[in-house]
Amino acid sequence: MACLLNKLWGAMAALALLLGAVPVLAEPAPQSFPIEKPPFECRNFRGLKVVVQQASGLGDVAKAQIVGRIPFIQVDPERLMTLPPKLQIFFFGHECAHHVLGHNFYPTPSVETDADCWSIKRGRELGLFKRDDIEAFAPYFAHSKGSNAGHLPGPERVTRLLQCYDEPGEFAATQ
Ligand SMILES: [Zn+2]
Repeated sequence: MACLLNKLWGAMAALALLLGAVPVLAEPAPQSFPIEKPPFECRNFRGLKVVVQQASGLGDVAKAQIVGRIPFIQVDPERLMTLPPKLQIFFFGHECAHHVLGHNFYPTPSVETDADCWSIKRGRELGLFKRDDIEAFAPYFAHSKGSNAGHLPGPERVTRLLQCYDEPGEFAATQ
């Protein structure tokens, strides 16, 4: 019995060491942004204010939807909480971009990369992102395989985000 306990403690110590060895992922990200006060106001391409709504168990960090004629961004606070604040802003901006760029009405193969780029530039112009912040996203995307919908595989996605950060601004379509 004592031997088993020792083994158990040993395993736990090894696990603690292992977890401690991933300092970037272990950085604290204690809460999601408050739903009633998103990182910035989002208006769609018609100038309609986008409603931000809490949706636990969404199956994704956030989603852009149109219900009736009202544009929504639904966010899953539990999923958001697991991410650092700058990455939360990035995902909010990505969903906002789908509304700003009218992707529900005018889908193209590049909607996902366009939304990514818009979010990065918006955050940069609002002073919310520095280049280092985008570089720090890398571990969180490292294992993402991309999607048929057009999300790039993780490492490529971060490379593209950094390119967007370095490009000039283009905010003709926004408020
Ligand atoms: Zn998207």
